[in-house]
Parts: sequence; C-alpha cells; structure tokens
Amino acid sequence: MVKFLDLGKINSLHGREITNAAYEILNSGWYLKGKATEDFEKSYADFIGTKYAVACGNGLDALTLILMAYIEMGEMKPGDEIIVPANTYIASILAISRAGLKPVLVEPNPATLQIDDKLIEQSINSNTKGIMIVHLYGQNAYTEKIGELCGKYGLKLIEDNAQAHGALYKGRKTGSLGDAAGHSFYPGKNLGALGDAGAITTNDKQLAEVVRALGNYGSEKKYVFNIKGLNSRIDEIQAAILDKKLIQLEEENARRREIAKKYFKGINNGYIVLPGVSMCEDNVFHIFPVFSPYRDKLKDYLQNKGIETIIHYPIPPHKQKCYPEWNNLSFPVTERIHEQELSLPISPVMTDDEVEAVISALNSFAP
Ligand SMILES: *Cc1c(COP(=O)(O)O)cnc(C)c1O
Repeated sequence: MVKFLDLGKINSLHGREITNAAYEILNSGWYLKGKATEDFEKSYADFIGTKYAVACGNGLDALTLILMAYIEMGEMKPGDEIIVPANTYIASILAISRAGLKPVLVEPNPATLQIDDKLIEQSINSNTKGIMIVHLYGQNAYTEKIGELCGKYGLKLIEDNAQAHGALYKGRKTGSLGDAAGHSFYPGKNLGALGDAGAITTNDKQLAEVVRALGNYGSEKKYVFNIKGLNSRIDEIQAAILDKKLIQLEEENARRREIAKKYFKGINNGYIVLPGVSMCEDNVFHIFPVFSPYRDKLKDYLQNKGIETIIHYPIPPHKQKCYPEWNNLSFPVTERIHEQELSLPISPVMTDDEVEAVISALNSFAP
C-alpha cells in the first residue's frame, strides 16, 4: 500500500524533538502567547525573509486577519473587491467573504495552473482594492505583470502561501513577495503542526501590529479594546513543534523535488498529462497533480493497485452551494482542472520503491 501522505511517519521522524518540546511547554506552565510563539515567529520571519511574522490559529484566519486589518487601517472598506483565482481551495475565497469584501474570480492559466495574469486587468474596477494570489500545489504564482498591475492601480498584493512554504521566485521566498501573506500549518501542509496553526508574514509594521491585536480580541494592551477582534492564537506547544520541524523543512522539500523529478522522468502514458512546471528547483511540490480525461477510472485503477490518490479538488468554488450567486457562471479552465486533476502520493518519507511502484502503475494504465 502506498499512502497518499503518511503523516504518522513524517512526524515520527521528529519524534524526539516533538516530545521534548511538548514536555518543556507542559512543565513551563505557560500555554499561549509565550516564548515558544515568539521564537517561532522569529524563525519563520527569517525563513520567509520578512521583517514580521505573526502566528495565529489557522490559515483561514491568517488570510481573514490581513483583510480585516486593511479595513481597520482604512485601506479597504466593506464591499470592496479582491481578485482571487477561480481554481483555489475554498479557504482563500472564504477569507475574503468573511472580512466583508467581495471575491472576484479569475481563471488560471492552463499552462501554469496559477492565476492568469493576462485576465486580471479586465476584472479591475474602481472598487478593486487587492489581488490575492495563491501559490497553488507548492508553486510560485507571482509574476512581474501582477506586480505592475498592483502598482498601476494601487492594489494590495496578498499571498495565500498555505501550500508553498519554501517555494521561490527569483531567489525570494513566496510569502515575501507581496504586501502580506497568509500561511497555514494544517497537519498535511509541507510545514505541518499536530493540529491547527497559521501565520501572517509582512514587512509592514503597522499591519503586523493590527493583525496581532485583531487576533487577540482587538487588544493591544490587556483589557483595553480599541477595535473589534477575534480569538485566533497559536498554542505554545504547536509553536514549539513547528520551530523544531522548520529546521528540517528545506531538506524535506528537497526530497519532494527529487520525487517530482522521478515522476517527470518516469511517467509516460498518453492518457495522463503531467503538470507544466518550468522551474522545478523553485517548487516545493506540496501536491503533484496529473491530469486525465479518464481521471475517475485512473483513480480506481491505482486504488486497486494499492496506491492512494486524492482529488484537489472535486468541486470548483463557483459550483459550491455556499456561493449560489456563482453557480451559473462558467469558468471552463477551472472546471476542466477540477474534472481531470488527480494528486499522486508525494512526501518526504516516500521510498524509491514506492515512487517506482506509482510510476509503473501509471504507465500500465489504459482506460
Ligand atoms: C490549507 C489551505 C488554506 C487554509 O488553511 P487552514 O489552516 O486549513 O485554515 C488556505 N488556502 C489554501 C490554498 C490551502 O491549501
């Protein structure tokens, strides 16, 4: 059996550090907003290459807090529009709605699977206040053209970096390319906690302060509330675990890249299309997607051979019932991705034999 993602095995690699870190927090008697959180924020800001990192409860909150902060700062107001790719995980879009802003969906480029920068400008109007790019599957989504559009129209560039810890654009880490970025440390992400956790990174001091206050009931000073916030904090235990796991992240991402290269080299089947990745070295392969018009058959076929796969994602956001206003809209590129995508097993703990088993199963598939 080749598991899609063996989280138990991944975390057991860090077993001793995790146990020691948790034990230290247990004995410290201090479980929120303490030294472990401070240390992790510092390491993570260093890793991403921003001045500030503010940890919070999860990735959805991270993105929501950024947008709420821009509203508090007077940079945005309820009802303003934020451009976002149509083919993202629902959380990117939910964050925009939850902050009281309006998500405007833009199709991806079929070659890169990331937001199509040629289609963005036609969706910009006087209500547009930001672009949220999503570094989907572990690959950078930023382009110079997106940067130019933000400059030309005075838009905030927000990065959803939930899937791309460590990915690069021209030597800079994703999460440091825009005005602010939201990160998720959901257990299955490349840097994963043993529960929920998230962070915001930015070089903007005021934004970092407002985000921090908003995540703590809107309080900068204990029992003084100048703005209406929510409760979104990281546990000291999770912060300590993430700080330890961060040390190995580059190595783990390198192993993912090695596996991806084996897939690119080994998979050769006319019924299966590989992702169009130009810069393998910059990608952290959170997901290795393949595409087939016979996707469902392929999934069953692999399952019968003991290979676990997952579809990211079966229903596109605009077809979800939580957004009935979009259900009749047509985004053909997004729809085709959702009909044909299948994610192969990829993780730092996969063995070469498992990788070979996946390749040979894929090569013997016929619909
Ligand atoms: C996982 C994910 C999120 C949400 O993160 P949580 O920590 O689960 O809230 C947001 N955006 C993308 C692209 C994700 O993959």
